[in-house]
Amino acid sequence: SSTTPRPLIAGNWKMNGLSVALDEARAVAAALEAKPPAARVAIFPPATLLHRLSQAVEGAHLLTGGQDCHGKSSGAHTGDVSAEMVADAGGSLVICGHSERRTDHGETSAQVAGKAEAAAAAGLEPIVCVGETLETREAGQAVSFVVSQVRDSLPTSLAGKAFSVAYEPLWAIGTGRTASVDNIVEMHAAIRAELVSRFCEQGRTVLILYGGSVKPENAREILAAPEVGGALVGGASLKAKDFLAIIQAL
Ligand code: PGA
Repeated sequence: SSTTPRPLIAGNWKMNGLSVALDEARAVAAALEAKPPAARVAIFPPATLLHRLSQAVEGAHLLTGGQDCHGKSSGAHTGDVSAEMVADAGGSLVICGHSERRTDHGETSAQVAGKAEAAAAAGLEPIVCVGETLETREAGQAVSFVVSQVRDSLPTSLAGKAFSVAYEPLWAIGTGRTASVDNIVEMHAAIRAELVSRFCEQGRTVLILYGGSVKPENAREILAAPEVGGALVGGASLKAKDFLAIIQAL
């Protein structure tokens, strides 16, 4: 229907890629120019490359975004980047609450909600990340844990704003181990129910991305699963060939 948004394929470069990596992004942009994608496609480079990448792919079928933003728009926060700065550098989306931020920097869901709020206020589309550890899954608490993360990480101010949620089980990130389609379908259905209860009609169309060892070999099956609105791709987004294969798996 007209209210169903196009899927989103997001490439998270993490702390990888020096300026030479811009060539990979240019190759992605050129391929998408030749064959426009069914999905929206975005690359999230390190903060130092965002401006150059945004300029390099301006006008192409390729969006750019930040890997994180601060919850405040400016001030005494050494080393941080605000949502307005991401937008000023040409980004149109921002990842909020990636598990590596939650783990490495102790970000809480309340802080993540503040970041998502700041992102939306700056006109960015936040991708809010959630996911359980292996320990939580083995304790049989994956669904309740993730649903409460969704509840606590999404500010009410996102009502009426563009945003998406990424489900990334920690045990599947960078491990080569993907969640089974059954695991993904179960979790995405639970996230959908929470989104609908929180955001009513809007909650039905918010994209729920899957992330965690998405590769050309498994992308088709994952992207075809119910309630999977796209993918957040780490390692496989660093090479144009692999990233394009995932985009074309849709
Ligand atoms: P991966 O990372 O694809 O390398 O597992 C996904 C992510 O952390 O966004």
